Amino acid sequence: MSDLRQRQQQLQALLATCDPATQAIRAGQVSGLEQEHNDAIYATSSFVYASAEQAAERFGGDTPGNVYSRFTNPTVTTFEKRMAALEGAERGVAASSGMAALTSIFLGHLKQGDHIVSSHSIFGSIISLFDNILAKLGISTTYVSPTDHAAWQQAIQPNTRMLFAESPSNPLAEVADIGFLSSLAHSHSALLVIDNCFCTPVVQNPLALGADIVMHSATKYIDGQGRCVGGIALGSNKLMEPVFAFLRTAGTTMSPFNAWVFINGLETLQLRMQAHCASALLVAQWLQAQPQVERVYYAGLESHPQHKLATDQQNGFGGVVSFAVKGGQGEAWRMIDNTQLISITGNFGDAKSTITHPATTTHGKMTPEARAAAGIGDNLLRISVGLEAIDDILTDLQRALAAI
Ligand SMILES: *Cc1c(COP(=O)(O)O)cnc(C)c1O
Repeated sequence: MSDLRQRQQQLQALLATCDPATQAIRAGQVSGLEQEHNDAIYATSSFVYASAEQAAERFGGDTPGNVYSRFTNPTVTTFEKRMAALEGAERGVAASSGMAALTSIFLGHLKQGDHIVSSHSIFGSIISLFDNILAKLGISTTYVSPTDHAAWQQAIQPNTRMLFAESPSNPLAEVADIGFLSSLAHSHSALLVIDNCFCTPVVQNPLALGADIVMHSATKYIDGQGRCVGGIALGSNKLMEPVFAFLRTAGTTMSPFNAWVFINGLETLQLRMQAHCASALLVAQWLQAQPQVERVYYAGLESHPQHKLATDQQNGFGGVVSFAVKGGQGEAWRMIDNTQLISITGNFGDAKSTITHPATTTHGKMTPEARAAAGIGDNLLRISVGLEAIDDILTDLQRALAAI
């Protein structure tokens, strides 16, 4: 037993020198159990101790160790360590969803009177969190275009404490310059938080580009098969401490079962992302050549306005492709209804290809004016390109396009 423990500790030290592809499969494993070839699920709410003295030390934080699974759990810790290895972060704090990770970041770091400057091209529930919940607590938000540097500069106020962006954005794949946003944030003593859901750590590492905190919805590519909801915040020990302090008290904690699903998802993340990126580029190029298609939004295309920036800050362009068909909502809906293979759903990041009409689903709660300002037309469609054979995906798209 002690030999196995030693071997596992030696492996964790070795991993610091390994490639991310190896870290994704091995990093963060908790040592101790003999039968543990796969990472075990610690399905336990609380933990037992050898003595009253040890219990007192653990509760007091004098010795490291688990107390209660709302605070920490070994399976969740493995997920946090593996993600931290992949994002180059000192620490990860796992949460019950991507939104719970964001809530923990915002409420851990901001107080009444603080101000956020945010890209307007972000996930809809985050806009609701800013406008309906943080606003009620006296934390205000100004929205700007992710690519308009002058607008970011002008939106800064004396009380601005945080800049927030997602890159590339959903659904239009606008690329925010993370290095620029980082310099701007730091020159005003603010933090830069980046939503990295669309890229995953395989395609982009925002911390290496200057961001202070990166968040993921593990629900998407990290699971990769649409089974569980979860999220994580990552950054330095110092910046993660208030996030953890909020989470352990508010209870926005990830469950051990979900952590176990995500750990297994991470083992194949690198291979899956390479395949998603390769197929998505082929789909984008194919769509661009179709007469029924007005415009394709994918940063991997040379015609994309921020193609060079995306090439500089990403290792690939992700698996999501958006495009406008000629016509309006009628044509867009006919295209969706005439697919046979691709699933009709708003989710993305799955092994199965999915298609959605943003204006009436993911972005349906926006006012028509806000949607128009954001460039999300009634003729826009978004595909999350899955891992099916590329010829089958293209055949399905061809059939659907021919029917409009
Ligand atoms: C899904 C998603 C979120 C929220 O994550 P949940 O796990 O659904 O709470 C945040 N940002 C982006 C870009 C997302 O796609």
